[in-house]
Amino acid sequence: MQHQPEYMLGVDIGTTSTKAVLFTTQGQVVAQHAVEYPLLCTTPGMAEQDPLQIYEAVLSAISNAVGDSHVESAQIALVSFSAAMHSVIAVGPDGELLSNSITWGDNRAGAWANRIRDELGGHEIYLRTGTPIHPMSPLCKIMWLRHDQPQLFARTARFVGMKEYVLYRLFGEWLVDHSIASATGMFNLQQLDWDHGALELLGIGPQHLSKLVPTTHHLSGLAPAMAQQLGLSPATPFVIGANDGVLSNLGVNAIGPGQVAVTIGTSGAMRSVIDKPLTDPSGRTFCYALTAKHWVVGGPTNNGGSIFHWVRNELATAESAAAKAAGLDPYDALTKIAEGVSAGAEGLLFHPYLAGERAPLWNADARGSYFGLATHHGKPHMIRAALEGVIFSLYSILPAVEGLIGPTTHMMATGGFARSALWRQMMADIFEREVVVPQSVESSCLGAAVLGLYALGKVDSLDVIGAMVGSTHRHVPIAENVALYRRLWPIYAAIPKLLEQQYRQLSQFQRETAARD
Ligand code: ADP
Repeated sequence: MQHQPEYMLGVDIGTTSTKAVLFTTQGQVVAQHAVEYPLLCTTPGMAEQDPLQIYEAVLSAISNAVGDSHVESAQIALVSFSAAMHSVIAVGPDGELLSNSITWGDNRAGAWANRIRDELGGHEIYLRTGTPIHPMSPLCKIMWLRHDQPQLFARTARFVGMKEYVLYRLFGEWLVDHSIASATGMFNLQQLDWDHGALELLGIGPQHLSKLVPTTHHLSGLAPAMAQQLGLSPATPFVIGANDGVLSNLGVNAIGPGQVAVTIGTSGAMRSVIDKPLTDPSGRTFCYALTAKHWVVGGPTNNGGSIFHWVRNELATAESAAAKAAGLDPYDALTKIAEGVSAGAEGLLFHPYLAGERAPLWNADARGSYFGLATHHGKPHMIRAALEGVIFSLYSILPAVEGLIGPTTHMMATGGFARSALWRQMMADIFEREVVVPQSVESSCLGAAVLGLYALGKVDSLDVIGAMVGSTHRHVPIAENVALYRRLWPIYAAIPKLLEQQYRQLSQFQRETAARD
């Protein structure tokens, strides 16, 4: 009998959409499908999603990707999941939804995050669990629900994340992988178990959470009707997989020593892989699980591509509209404008904390600013400074990461920002390292699929990813720009430290005046 090729399906349940990508087992994309869903933000600080809508999107993304590929169900060796971190859904005893999915971007647990950090032993919890104490974390969200919505809290049988809900709907079990769990703030990294102290603080027990399993855990036995709907076989193994951040490191082949992956999509992050869990004595970095032997240390920024989006919509509105009218991509047009200004924007600095900041400040009250404005500055300087500010902000995470894992040598850059040659070059110049852009496939989906191969014993090591990921662009630092950025860096880095009190006062002012409107 002729040997049939095998395929693997990586599914990423993200914040804006669910993407399903069917790959050959050599990592070539065969078909893909994405289904978007909205973020629900009707009150200040709220960022929720409808779990049913996401579940339907997962089904539709899978069935469309498989359907478009015309691949036989028997040839699909596995389905493996990636998912956004930090989501919380309250469910009742029969799995009924009692709340929406409260996403990582929801800030309503802010006051509780401060209390946990300042008064309730938050730093020790962080050191054990690897998740910074921040409103994004399920730890802080469950604390907030307990006090803000006590009736809901009392009725809740379990607090679960989005991927857990999808798997429950498909297989009837409440399971959470170590990777998603390691981003809850409730998972003890050394014991690989729920953290007793964190659960005690919340007044819950392990029975209120899902059962912990390694990221390589797999399930099969999909109901025949569901298998048919998805275009799969009931016997197709489903690998639980990991979170989207750690899988993106795997998907861009940044899992070796000294390698650092920097992503700037809407938000941004810097991440490196080490072989054991490590937390930062100053609390600046996260540590999330990929496998028992791969842990991802890094820091997220709230303000990545969203800053360029803001520049496009709020600052350079006319220029963006003109570009659009001329049939050009406004981002490309604005990048061209910024190119007309030299590195360092002739002494204009931009701090991009428009959405507060996570790493390395972990200060939801931080605010954005232009510093150094002078009459010789015009809009082109402001655009350039904004792009540089995003890179400086990511660069400020590097010392915390290197403090834990040692020097980094290789940088892989991903996300929407990598479409701009100017922005990529800024990264090489500010980081003073060669920047490589991996071939752009959906990296979290590819990471999930490769983890799936490893989980099912089809490959011995995650290193097979090396042969699957090519590179597109390479940038080496330009000495002249490096010299300019080196002079600006200490000035940039000093500002947020000097303004801590003013950030707090101003954000308090904003909250109060916004409430009166
Ligand atoms: P997400 O994080 O939502 O998946 P992307 O990775 O697609 O999003 O990143 C979106 C961001 O990429 C935009 O906010 C913008 O800052 C940036 N971007 C998109 N296109 C370009 C471009 N041509 N040049 C520079 N930046 C771009």
